[in-house]
Amino acid sequence: MITAPFDYQKAKSIDEALVALSDGAKILAGGHSLIPSLKLRLSRPSRLVDITGIGTLRGIMEEDGEIVVGAACTHANIGGDELIKTKLPFFAQGASLIGDLQVRNYGTIGGSLAHADPGADWPALVLAADAAIEVRSTNGKRRIKAGDFFTGLFSTALQDAEIITAIRIPVPPNGTKTTYQKFVQPASRFAIAGCAVMRFADGKTTIAFTGISDNAFRDSNAENVVSGKTINDATITSAVNACLQDVNITGDHYASEDYRRHLAKVYLKKALQAVA
Ligand code: FAD
Repeated sequence: MITAPFDYQKAKSIDEALVALSDGAKILAGGHSLIPSLKLRLSRPSRLVDITGIGTLRGIMEEDGEIVVGAACTHANIGGDELIKTKLPFFAQGASLIGDLQVRNYGTIGGSLAHADPGADWPALVLAADAAIEVRSTNGKRRIKAGDFFTGLFSTALQDAEIITAIRIPVPPNGTKTTYQKFVQPASRFAIAGCAVMRFADGKTTIAFTGISDNAFRDSNAENVVSGKTINDATITSAVNACLQDVNITGDHYASEDYRRHLAKVYLKKALQAVA
């Protein structure tokens, strides 16, 4: 299957990409979701602006108490980065579980967040890490909290002419433990159920799920059960019982609603055991 024709432009700067966007172009990053959707004619942009050559979108650094991950970093860039491996190990763990080698070397974190596939891994990770998504348009820059970013199935708070430039994560204090556990769809390795957990030395705990519903989400009921308490068999059982209240759980040809609920609870248990 081939795509409908389109013009292609490789931007050298964010400003150049923003001008193209305001002229109606669509952003192309790794192309691992966009190109399949063009082939299926789910989208028919007449022009694509490739952002993968913009150097300022590709770095990973620590700045002002935050870890800053450029939006065009590939999953492999993030998984192999020493700062990430040291300070945000569950980002490296999550990156290593995405797709296959080709997907990890082409797909980008910004593309994944913008696409907001219900089974994507990064949404759970950025939610658990309490990250901010930094975006730019010709009107300037703004930050969207991860908790406000995912608004539904393949939907986000991103406006048409905005580009994600970076993901900013508060540097976790020493003693923070993190994990990402997922049950994979065996062909694509998208999450049928994924659970990201961050446990701070003071006991504060964040828990986010992906794959379970239309969009990734933080589970405050489960968080409240374990935050500030010792994680042991009893508190894990209470958290597992408390999670997924009022969540509209997806049932599809990969997993029924009941099976997904069961998987989510199993993977929450694995994640809490991992940080305990
Ligand atoms: P593109 O496909 O280039 O773009 C996707 C969308 O985001 C487009 O609408 C584009 O305009 C927009 N966009 C891209 N970058 C930006 C930006 N900086 N700002 C604003 N909008 C932007 N993902 C997982 O999480 N887990 C998996 O296990 C997994 N397995 C996969 C297996 C296969 C076989 C394939 C093909 C994909 C898989 N993916 C998986 C998805 C992959 O990880 C990509 O990250 C994802 O497709 C989107 O990233 P991309 O860079 O390819 O974006």
